Amino acid sequence: MTKINLMDYTWPELKEAVKKNPLVILPVAQVEEHGPHLPVGCDTFIGASIAKQVSCELSKTITTLLMPSVWAGYSPKKMMEWGTMRVRTRVFIDYIHDILASLCEMEFKKIVIIDSHGQHRGMLDVAVKEIADEYNVYCALTNPLSLCSEKYAEIRKSKSGGSTHAGEFETSLLIALGHKIDMKKATDIDTLKFKTKYFEADAFGAKKYYISTWGFHDSKEGILGDPCKASGATGKLILEEIVKNYVELCKEYHKIVTF
Ligand SMILES: [Zn+2]
Repeated sequence: MTKINLMDYTWPELKEAVKKNPLVILPVAQVEEHGPHLPVGCDTFIGASIAKQVSCELSKTITTLLMPSVWAGYSPKKMMEWGTMRVRTRVFIDYIHDILASLCEMEFKKIVIIDSHGQHRGMLDVAVKEIADEYNVYCALTNPLSLCSEKYAEIRKSKSGGSTHAGEFETSLLIALGHKIDMKKATDIDTLKFKTKYFEADAFGAKKYYISTWGFHDSKEGILGDPCKASGATGKLILEEIVKNYVELCKEYHKIVTF
């Protein structure tokens, strides 16, 4: 059977694998509070599971090496109630840079980052740009939300503001991934109603400028959204859409990056 996890390889095997035009998948997530109903590993569980399913499918045609998830990243200070890891912004950029640089120095040239935690995306963008300048390696910085936004708009039950953090989207995914979620603890008291001409407070909402939602709304339960509308059926459909689109995206990236 084809090996998928990079950690299962010996170093001589990795040295051989690099000659096969491989694709490296790096999930980057976070451990943070996700309300009273979801585990703090929510983002990591989502990213790691998507990365594993995508890697299994890709490995049928492309040599694919799945990295272990980066599980600690940046979260805003406001979220530091219980269970949140807070790596400082500059430390996080350097940490990701050094993981990517290590891969580049081993001559891996095609790296897909699956970012399942929105708050540190700008920092990942900096690391990716530094790597491009230093190694002429152009990583693909991706996130699961953008790969299912059309599908999710069709099937979501919550209104705008129901899916920012620990709301319908993430709760549905965790149920679909087989986690036992105590829905009696889910609450819709932190559903966001904020919508203006230029800004919609929902992870899938239209935004003409960036502001962290935590900057104008205090969450009572560590939720920004409406998890009460979540279901395993919704989660299953989103997950299928994300994995299908990721496989396509990775194949395209693998093909177009030729240097
Ligand atoms: Zn999350």
